[in-house]
Amino acid sequence: MVETHPPSIASPRLALLGIPWDESSSFLRGAAEAPPLIRAAFASDSSNSWGENGLRIAPQDFHDAGDLSLRSGDNMRSDVERAIADLLARGFSPISLGGDHSVTYPILRAFARRYPRLSILHFDAHPDLYEEFRGDRFSHACPFARIMEERLAQRLVQVGIRTVNQDQREQAARFGVEMIEMRHWREDLRLDFDGPVYLTFDIDALDPAHAPGVSHREPGGLSTRQAIDLIHGVGAPIVGADIVEFNPVQDVSGLTAMVCGRLLKEIAAQMKATAA
Ligand code: MN
Ligand code: MN
Repeated sequence: MVETHPPSIASPRLALLGIPWDESSSFLRGAAEAPPLIRAAFASDSSNSWGENGLRIAPQDFHDAGDLSLRSGDNMRSDVERAIADLLARGFSPISLGGDHSVTYPILRAFARRYPRLSILHFDAHPDLYEEFRGDRFSHACPFARIMEERLAQRLVQVGIRTVNQDQREQAARFGVEMIEMRHWREDLRLDFDGPVYLTFDIDALDPAHAPGVSHREPGGLSTRQAIDLIHGVGAPIVGADIVEFNPVQDVSGLTAMVCGRLLKEIAAQMKATAA
């Protein structure tokens, strides 16, 4: 069925940016293949174009900036930072499709200049707070150490966490991270933010039964339902987001791609609903 869709006077102006990068992954490669598969799942005729909140979110609601053509090594970070800064300068609210989680650090460098009192809502099985991981300070295990030491956000709230060791617990204390571990999960959890929120969603926050297509399958995670409910509970304006760590090599029958497509729809709908 073809859906007729008048151009919406969307506020915010949403943009999509693919970041095909997995060189900073510590275990399995594959996340670089994710962006076109997330777009395809999001646009699939198997579902419709409405977020659960009743707002319509279709591909034409986005300015699609395409997939970045990234240089290797350290240049990736300046490429990503420049691309995000450019979208923000043009008045867009970017949603980035990763890629491994290392991309969130350069994204936040661009966001911090525009939003000096930013809070981060971080879905993940892992705290990603290591000072360095196997000799790499920019590993996908480290982005939130870089973000917090550069004070790119005033708050970091983590949910879904279930792999904390002593090292990472000390890092969390050092940076004042508000870590809601999975073992302390409550169904009535509500997250209160009083300023602009950046939402970063590492797909391995979800239980691998819901999202097997990740490089690090950690049982005991969030259901897709619980994650969507948390997103719907964010009342403060969500000014940008990323969906990272979907690894298509590990996926089963396109299931995780559809989860990413759904999350993209729900995050975008919440961005529209909370726009200041
Ligand atoms: Mn992560
Ligand atoms: Mn993770």
